[in-house]
Amino acid sequence: MSRHESRRVMHEVRMRRLAVRRVERLTPHMQRIVLGGAELEGFFSGAPDDHVKLFFPNDAGELVFPKRGPNGLEYPPGADPSPMRDYTPRHHDTLHGELTVDFVLHGDGPASTWADAAKVGDVIGAGGPRGSFVVADDFDHYVLVADETGLPAIGRWLEEMPASASATVLVEVPDESDRQVLFTDAQCDVRWFERDGVDAAVSTLLEDALRGVSPKGDAFYWIAAESRRARNMRLMLAERGVPKEWVRATGYWKADGTDDEDE
Ligand SMILES: Cc1cc2nc3c(=O)[nH]c(=O)nc-3n(C[C@H](O)[C@H](O)[C@H](O)COP(=O)(O)OP(=O)(O)OC[C@H]3O[C@@H](n4cnc5c(N)ncnc54)[C@H](O)[C@@H]3O)c2cc1C
Repeated sequence: MSRHESRRVMHEVRMRRLAVRRVERLTPHMQRIVLGGAELEGFFSGAPDDHVKLFFPNDAGELVFPKRGPNGLEYPPGADPSPMRDYTPRHHDTLHGELTVDFVLHGDGPASTWADAAKVGDVIGAGGPRGSFVVADDFDHYVLVADETGLPAIGRWLEEMPASASATVLVEVPDESDRQVLFTDAQCDVRWFERDGVDAAVSTLLEDALRGVSPKGDAFYWIAAESRRARNMRLMLAERGVPKEWVRATGYWKADGTDDEDE
C-alpha cells in the first residue's frame, strides 16, 4: 500500500425511527441527545466525520420519510416532507443500543429548535451513514480545524486516535463557556477561539490561526465550518502547496445568501 492512502467505504443505507433516551446540556450552545430503539440494530459508523441524515417532525408533527426511487430520494405525492439535516454520530454504544448526537443550538432552523426542546420519548428518523471517509493513519501530523458544528467529529476523532498520533486542533466556539473537555491518548495541542459575539459566518479566528500552523512532516488537514469559510481555508492550503488529497474541507452549514457547495 502506498503512503497516506485514505479510502471511502460504502454502507447499506437504512431508515430508522429512534427515540430520545437522554438529554444533556453539555455547554450553553451544545445539546447532547442520546437516541435508542430496536431499529438501531445493525447501525454502523466507520469514521469520525461520518454523518447521518436526521429527519424531524414536519409542521403537522409527523415524520414523513423519503424512499429511494429511480430519481433518488422521493416523497409520497402531496406529502409534507420531514426537514432533513446532517449530523455526526458522536458515539455509538453497541452494548446498550444507543447513538449520541451533539446538536449546536444556534437559535434557528428545525434541527436546532427540535434539539433545544427535545425530551425523553420524542422520536426522529435517521438514515445512513451512507459511507465513511477513512483517513490514512500514517500521516506525521493531523490538523483538525472546526467551528462548533465540527466539534462532535473532532471529539470523536481525538478519542479514537492512537497514542502514537500527533495533532493540532483549532476550535472556534461562541464563547468561553462553550469549551468542552476533550479526551485523547494522542499528543495533542488543542487551541480554543471564542467569537464573543462575532457572527460565525464572518469570523476569521480559524483562518488566522491556520495561517500560523506549519507542522513538520506530512500533515492531513480536516476542516469543517461555514461553507464559504471552509472553502477559503481549503484555498489557503492549496496556495501553500498542500496536496489536495491531504485536505478535507467541508461546509457544515451555509450562511444565508451562500449558495456555494463544498464537498
Ligand atoms: C457532515 C456534516 C456533519 C454535521 N454534524 C453536525 C453535528 O454533529 N452537530 C451540529 O450541530 N451540526 C452538524 N452539522 C451542521 C448542521 O447540519 C447545520 O448546522 C444545519 O444547517 C442545522 O440545521 P437547522 O435546521 O438547525 O438550521 P437550518 O434550517 O439549516 O438553518 C436555519 C438558519 O440558521 C443558520 N445556521 C445553520 N446552522 C448554523 C450554525 N451552526 N451556526 C449559526 N447559524 C446556523 C442558517 O444560515 C439559516 O439562516 C453537520 C453538517 C455536516 C455537513
